[in-house]
Amino acid sequence: MMVCQFGGSSVADASQIKKVKAILDSDKERTIVVVSAPGKRFSGDEKVTDMLLSCAALAQNEKALEEKFEEVKDRYRDIAEGLGLGRDVIDGELEAVLEKMKMGAGRDYAASRGEHLNAILISKYLGWNYIETEDTIVIGENNKIESESYTNLASVIEKGKKYVIPGFYGRSPSGEVRCFSRGGSDITGAIAARAVMADVYENWTDVSGVYSSDPRYVKSAHVIPMLSYKMVRELSEVGASVFHEEAIAPVVEVNIPINIRNTNSPEDDGTIIGKEPEEKGVVGVSAKGGLSKIYVRKLMFFKESGVRHKVLSLMHLYGIKPCYTLYGCDSISWYFETKQIENIDTEEMCLRIKKEFSLDEIELKKGFAVVGLVGKGIEETMEYVDALDELRKNKIVPSSISLGGSYTTFVIGVPEDRKLDAVNCISERLFISK
Ligand code: ADP
Ligand code: ASP
Ligand code: MG
Repeated sequence: MMVCQFGGSSVADASQIKKVKAILDSDKERTIVVVSAPGKRFSGDEKVTDMLLSCAALAQNEKALEEKFEEVKDRYRDIAEGLGLGRDVIDGELEAVLEKMKMGAGRDYAASRGEHLNAILISKYLGWNYIETEDTIVIGENNKIESESYTNLASVIEKGKKYVIPGFYGRSPSGEVRCFSRGGSDITGAIAARAVMADVYENWTDVSGVYSSDPRYVKSAHVIPMLSYKMVRELSEVGASVFHEEAIAPVVEVNIPINIRNTNSPEDDGTIIGKEPEEKGVVGVSAKGGLSKIYVRKLMFFKESGVRHKVLSLMHLYGIKPCYTLYGCDSISWYFETKQIENIDTEEMCLRIKKEFSLDEIELKKGFAVVGLVGKGIEETMEYVDALDELRKNKIVPSSISLGGSYTTFVIGVPEDRKLDAVNCISERLFISK
């Protein structure tokens, strides 16, 4: 049995959904399908989830949302018509959603309706059963998947029947609609795969697998045929956005392989995520921008036990959650997402931290990116030396380098405005001119 998840680009309009049907029809093992909300049909288009979030913001500010919601209606009506179901087949559901939003149903409810409505339409089109994730998937704080989600789902799935499941949402332990973070339909697909112990979890998107770098920006990018779970997690952690970084967890413990495939090119094999590749060496180079760095120094800093934790706890109060830590003799630097400090007085925060811990120095700088080189045995192959040499040739000065704790990723801090140059030149050196 296979569980197939189709991302927003694969279900963006009727012509894409017809491709989905052809893929499902081509293998009788494809019996469970998890769908996203309609995504972008062309560059510059708006995802339905974003439209719904705008509607929720209007409702929250007590502004009229009917006009914006009309755009949502049009997207679904176009899909219904294009699939031959009749333009008004989903009107009743659309009206009900509008009414609930006007009554102040909130952000998660609004966001979740993108998947809900699309899954209803697709189940009608395929003639498959619809499963409501509000009744089955339980999401705790911080995206935590409650274990009853697996048993709940398994209990409503019967052998020999076919099902459509909306991605991205479930309910909170207290019963309200709750969404995963953006791109979270990948997580729902993984939950469904684990619930039925699928032979494979197929994740269908608009590219033919996980590329060595984001194919939109890196000319020399190529599809990686095989990746370990650990590698794909580390690649997405440093910016490879093709697969949600939290979607590995449900399938990794039970060893279900994930196959990333292209809806627009179903004959391609894609990437298999599961076993570790045989060969050592860097397989992917990815980058994540929008970072800031905070640096703190104090003579004999670490003599005082638990001090790192105390500084972190104070930063946490301001909403800062670091993603990379670098240690010096008497100093530490933390990288974190700049959007976390958008609405705070950083000067006041730095002064407070400096005073509270009698620091010698504290410095906060914006404008960083990190480039990650991910692969097996990279501490032995030492390709990171080539990468650093290439940065020197291109006059890109690293702000930090680290082999990290996992020995799977070598992380280089670079100025944000040189992020793409850095990924391109390293990729060229490691994969083309080798
Ligand atoms: P979907 O609509 O299927 O959910 P996403 O936008 O979530 O699609 O993910 C697919 C996109 O991820 C691709 O179109 C590609 O531009 C981007 N991407 C970023 N990094 C990578 C990578 N390393 N490999 C493949 N795609 C990547
Ligand atoms: N529709 C949601 C989003 O746009 C979830 C998903 O597509 O996976 O983020
Ligand atoms: Mg996606």
